[in-house]
Amino acid sequence: MYRHVYASNCKNKKCKDNSADELGLDIFGDNLRIFFRHSVAAHRILGKIEVDGLVTQVLTGHSGFSEYLHRFKCKESPLCICDPGCLESVLHVLLDCPTLSYERLRLECRLGKKLCQGKIPEFLENSDSRELFL
Ligand SMILES: [Zn+2]
Repeated sequence: MYRHVYASNCKNKKCKDNSADELGLDIFGDNLRIFFRHSVAAHRILGKIEVDGLVTQVLTGHSGFSEYLHRFKCKESPLCICDPGCLESVLHVLLDCPTLSYERLRLECRLGKKLCQGKIPEFLENSDSRELFL
């Protein structure tokens, strides 16, 4: 579903050219910038993966993350249970939350690289690391 909405929006906004590229990722907010370098890469990669509900939620940040739920008054606090000063966002859960440090370490060992924000698009662009990451 996400892929179809995204592709439709890109087609309507002519995201294929560089001047409109940022518009393509802005349609779904800042979260997509975590995962894709530009809209053309997003379109190409999303065409190669099975985009189910969970993947859509992580890519968009529209899911059970406290930061998102708090925005709609569905949760009292946007903070993570690990630290009263830390927002529970997609980036925090993927890269920093100590409650997931074991799983993160296992993934980093399999990837052979440390997870960091700048590397996520690189992991998704490579088919081998994409399989591990998703
Ligand atoms: Zn946390």
